Amino acid sequence: MSIQPEKFKTLVKAAAEQIIASAPELTALDQAIGDGDHGTNMKRGFQAVLGKLEAIVAQPLDEAFKTIGKTLVLTVGGASGPLYGSFFMAVGDALSRDKRLPEDLAEVFGTGVGAVSTRGRSQPGEKTMLDVLVPVLQTLRAEAGRPDLVARIRETASKAVAHTVPMQATKGRASFLGARSVGHVDPGARSSCLLLHAVCDTLESRP
Ligand code: ADP
Ligand code: MG
Repeated sequence: MSIQPEKFKTLVKAAAEQIIASAPELTALDQAIGDGDHGTNMKRGFQAVLGKLEAIVAQPLDEAFKTIGKTLVLTVGGASGPLYGSFFMAVGDALSRDKRLPEDLAEVFGTGVGAVSTRGRSQPGEKTMLDVLVPVLQTLRAEAGRPDLVARIRETASKAVAHTVPMQATKGRASFLGARSVGHVDPGARSSCLLLHAVCDTLESRP
């Protein structure tokens, strides 16, 4: 089994369009505990991805993920650009070795999450995107093969975003606020959730 280029294109397009549409929300979240650029950063990056979508999906899947990662590194900026870029480049690297999608989904996703953690020197509990990515990885590992896996991923991501509210940030700009970072959703956790929801929705609409 492998992911068909047409399906891959639909998934990337849905994820990019979701981020572009949600830029005002992401910016508002970053205005509360950061510098208010997360929405514009992410929108710029995913517009660049959309701009080269045809070229991306013409590549083998591993190269396609690497191109998405490099594009995000070059265009998103901020802390989140290199972090999301690392995620997608690591996924591409895993596929260049011996991993396959969808068969090795949990392992491939885990490689991406590991790259974010290494690059960000961060762990779950620090009020970052990892507070969504790591719980989703745990769901992928624990519930692989379940018929409702897509719904479970969506649910895990939503709950994980809500769990960032009481956290105090210890990484990124929000950490400068100390205790005042408590009581807000982390912008990067929300953008990760939006990306995952877009992928889940697309998978469900095209069984
Ligand atoms: P910047 O903070 O440079 O303005 P963005 O606003 O685009 O960049 O992204 C902020 C988001 O990046 C945060 O909400 C958080 O989720 C994520 N982030 C920041 N630093 C780290 C880190 N060290 N590890 C993981 N995620 C991080
Ligand atoms: Mg910011």
